[in-house]
Amino acid sequence: MADDELLFADADAALDDADYVIFGAPFDQTVSHRSGTSGAPASIRKESYNFETYLYEYDIDLTTIAIHDAGDLPEQPNVRSALEKVFQFTKQLKIKNKFPVMLGGEHSLTLGAVKGISALSQDDDLPTAVLVLDAHLDYRREYESERFSHACITRRLAEVVGTKNVVPIGIRSMSGEEHRDALTDDLKYYDMATVNEMGMKTLLEDVMDELGEARLYLSVDMDVLDPAYAPGVGNPEPYGLKPQDIKTCIEVIASKLVGFDIMELSPPYDNGNTAALAGRFVRSLIALRSR
Ligand code: MN
Ligand code: MN
Repeated sequence: MADDELLFADADAALDDADYVIFGAPFDQTVSHRSGTSGAPASIRKESYNFETYLYEYDIDLTTIAIHDAGDLPEQPNVRSALEKVFQFTKQLKIKNKFPVMLGGEHSLTLGAVKGISALSQDDDLPTAVLVLDAHLDYRREYESERFSHACITRRLAEVVGTKNVVPIGIRSMSGEEHRDALTDDLKYYDMATVNEMGMKTLLEDVMDELGEARLYLSVDMDVLDPAYAPGVGNPEPYGLKPQDIKTCIEVIASKLVGFDIMELSPPYDNGNTAALAGRFVRSLIALRSR
């Protein structure tokens, strides 16, 4: 079986029966440095077979959880049609009350998933809030004349869910203009110095207090990790998070989440370990939510 036909390990439930739906969104047309994210879903699926089905810390076996892998969305000719595909697919999943797990693809696609989730007012009127783990602020107005570039995703998200409902964490890179705009717009972000000072757990408890009740979406740009742990990304940025920080994050907020994505993994620069991490995050998150 070719890699691109492989399902995520233990994701063999039928769509109708599933509580969790994993899907790939292979797209990398607005990437700014080194490309390759379109191969990420296949690479994460491949590494997902490295792990035990049983997660002893949480006393959960993933084979007892209804997980469906929907495969990849068809690759699109431009970012707008890719966003539309992700939007429609995620919205359908929410209508069917499934928990979406998107394997990117470039970070720009998070906008489609968040729109798909927040398009439904459902039975409550809670705001949608997005935690963005990222080395970069991604708060440019546009990048190389493209508003929907991956370098603008946090700003585009803020326009959809409101600036106070977007929380970037692990930041250590931004342009001067992004810095000024973030101050002007009162975008509250937690940079690496703050993460190191507060610790992830305390920091997240702070974030939760500020956000209050909200539908919470978690977007992980893999470059938030230190390149020592996750070399397979398009824009490696030193001084980053440890894998344990993301594990802690998942442990603190898993039960509050309505959607999750892992973006910007770039297999051509990976030795497999970045994809293994990504696969492990997905497995931990699903196990924790299912306890
Ligand atoms: Mn980034
Ligand atoms: Mn990003």
